[in-house]
Amino acid sequence: MSSAIAAGLAAIRSRIAEAEAAAGRAPGAVTLVAVAKTHPAAAVEAALAAGQTVFGENRVQEAMGKYPEIKARVPALRLHLIGPLQTNKAREAVGLFDVIESLDRPKLARVLAEEVQRAGRCPEILIQVNIGREAQKAGVDPDQTETLVRLARDEYALAPRGLMCIPPAGLDPAPFFRQLAELAARCGLDRLSMGMSEDFPTAIACGATQVRVGSAIFGHRG
Ligand SMILES: *Cc1c(COP(=O)(O)O)cnc(C)c1O
Repeated sequence: MSSAIAAGLAAIRSRIAEAEAAAGRAPGAVTLVAVAKTHPAAAVEAALAAGQTVFGENRVQEAMGKYPEIKARVPALRLHLIGPLQTNKAREAVGLFDVIESLDRPKLARVLAEEVQRAGRCPEILIQVNIGREAQKAGVDPDQTETLVRLARDEYALAPRGLMCIPPAGLDPAPFFRQLAELAARCGLDRLSMGMSEDFPTAIACGATQVRVGSAIFGHRG
């Protein structure tokens, strides 16, 4: 397993470097977030051994079972929450994650602010945008994004740094990635979390600063 993960990481890193060069971006402009959801802690250890320090998980509960011990041993590990966050999990999320990419509503901003106060620790915050306005998908409506950014920043001192999106399945993602980049620029934000195993080179061409890649590194989820 560990050699397959090391090989997967090496392949993704070289494709990221190619996409950066093709887009005229600086080498290292794009951060790889290795999405280990559904894979065991041993998979995280294998990726760490191959030099990967940034990881993503989409469920608080699963991450609570996998990372506290590893994080205590490897302080450089940076853990991103990339899935929807329920307010009743906000305390655990603020305690465990270094980046929360899924702030998408005013009530969650309020609860996160309370937990940040209580913990004396503020993860980096990104705002998730429902860029394709899909009924079943998490994320703030594009039209409400600036308002939520301002609320998070001015009312709750959460200092959002960027935007995250998952474009609709089955459509060309490029127009959605470009819309997210425009929206971020309008909001004065410079981090863009977009691109997954199937579309990260396109996302990098459209300005992604971080890509979230799971199955292309760890294999398909069971
Ligand atoms: C699972 C997941 C990913 C990674 O998806 P892959 O297709 O396995 O690369 C990225 N972002 C989010 C929000 C996810 O839930």
